[in-house]
Amino acid sequence: MTRWGMVFDTDRCTGCGACVVACHAENNIQTVGEDEARKGRSMHWLRIERHYEGTFPDVKVRFTPVLCQHCASAPCEPVCPVYATYRTPEGLNAMVYSRCIGTRYCANNCPYTVRVFNWHDGEWPEPLERQLNPDVSVRPAGVMEKCTFCVQRIQDAQSLAKDDDREVGDGEIQTACSQSCPARAIVFGNLEDPASEVVRLARSERSSQLLEDLGTHPSVFYLRGGE
Ligand code: SF4
Repeated sequence: MTRWGMVFDTDRCTGCGACVVACHAENNIQTVGEDEARKGRSMHWLRIERHYEGTFPDVKVRFTPVLCQHCASAPCEPVCPVYATYRTPEGLNAMVYSRCIGTRYCANNCPYTVRVFNWHDGEWPEPLERQLNPDVSVRPAGVMEKCTFCVQRIQDAQSLAKDDDREVGDGEIQTACSQSCPARAIVFGNLEDPASEVVRLARSERSSQLLEDLGTHPSVFYLRGGE
């Protein structure tokens, strides 16, 4: 059994944004520029939220990286009129870009606001097109997109493991964000493997989930920061 999940240690996160940049590079995400960003059309699959605690001058800043929570009871799935988003057997909330007709019902129903709509076809003027990841499609205008937990990396690791006639080991798969985090604040793994690091952290006393009361049962956990 596999259910992919992720843990963010907010005590380690410094808000550097390396994970956001790595996610853009890995997943061929458009950079839309200031004008579009001002209209709320940023394309980030992962954003860093800032929270301030205390009053000046004794203020602490906390950072919370937020991406698709790959919910077990995902509010985005039942509202899609063409079944373009669905839950895979491995617990991923998947998007079928070729089915999406751009109604954006899913984005409106996502309490974590992690789905982004392609208002334009992306442009990568020469020689920037060489930076595109050949393992990931370039999404056209008019479709919805969001974090996939770097499903291309998951599939690569599974193919290699199958060739060697073995299971994928704990820690073998790194998403772009977890690989790039200099603070090692992001851990990815199988929530169904009781011996995995991700399960150990998810069961920690410091563990919590975003908007837990909604009953969406996310696959992403957050370790609260200390004093
Ligand atoms: S790369 Fe790591 S430390 Fe930097 S913002 Fe992302 S999670 Fe936080």
